[in-house]
Amino acid sequence: MLIVMKAGATEAQIDDVLSVIEQLGYKAHPMPGATRTAIGITGNQATIDPSHFETLPGVAEAIRVSKPYKLITLDLRPDKTVVRVGDATIGGDELAIIAGPCAVESRAQAFAVAESVRRSGARFFRGGAFKPRTSPYAFQGLGEEGLRILAEIRDVYGLKIVTEALDENGVDLVERYGDVIQIGARSMQNFSLLRRAGKARLPVLLKRGLSATLDEWLLAAEYVMSEGNYQVILCERGIRTFAQHTRNTMDLAAVPAVRRISHLPVIVDPSHGTGKNFMVTPLARAGVAVGADGLIIEVHDQPEHALSDGAQALTVEQYEELVREVRAIHEVITPAPVS
Ligand code: PEP
Ligand code: MN
Repeated sequence: MLIVMKAGATEAQIDDVLSVIEQLGYKAHPMPGATRTAIGITGNQATIDPSHFETLPGVAEAIRVSKPYKLITLDLRPDKTVVRVGDATIGGDELAIIAGPCAVESRAQAFAVAESVRRSGARFFRGGAFKPRTSPYAFQGLGEEGLRILAEIRDVYGLKIVTEALDENGVDLVERYGDVIQIGARSMQNFSLLRRAGKARLPVLLKRGLSATLDEWLLAAEYVMSEGNYQVILCERGIRTFAQHTRNTMDLAAVPAVRRISHLPVIVDPSHGTGKNFMVTPLARAGVAVGADGLIIEVHDQPEHALSDGAQALTVEQYEELVREVRAIHEVITPAPVS
């Protein structure tokens, strides 16, 4: 059920609706918008009788939701969500650029890349301290030591830190050292992790699973939001297909597909989306052209020596050129403000 308040509804009327929802034993999710507040209801197994709400003062409509998602949808929030990380945003007017190595390998490596990321004007630094590797024998990341290096980069360069949590304990650690919790493709349906991230005080960057449909991906976001964390960024990172010319097939159509259904920002990851250095810049351009709110890009100071994902890492020079190109595209496709 979705309660749409009248445009002029008062705070007290909204609070009344919230308390009725809670008295019924459900969870209320108020979403203030530019013109009106809507309130999503979760926690109900059976359908809710709209007559509980229809006659309450300030209520415009009580709408039964027939779709599987309740909180990610434009029905609840017609305005786009702008995720705020300090003074940086994802989903607003600015093209968000998140860049850095696949994994934090050493202080020297992370700082060398951060220097370039800062110079490019990007606001976010990525780097895994806990790596979800296919093989248990591959480099697993520096763990908490890696997080300490990331926290230092934040202090020195003022970049916001995006880093992956592999499990619930990882969320505690990212909350301590980072700014955005990345949930990787392999964890997209780790429901206990999603619920824990939903209780976190940091935004969540939710990658699409390797074989996830759009609905499965959006429902994973719904898990996070249903716990009360509405700061979710979706990330298309390529899915597995029969194609052999790429590591994954980057599904650019996912961007307009998400837009049609959800208010959440959506970014693209052409690094994992292609797996190949020479394809990253072309697909980054394409991602911005189809309307992504941002990009996440892997960069390494010495890609040939990278401990993970070296084949898709850009050199710092390639990365800086990419940023110039995608900024130009973003400027062209962004409608000028109405004056
Ligand atoms: C990563 O960002 O380095 C990563 C492991 O990504 P994904 O979960 O999309 O494979
Ligand atoms: Mn990687």
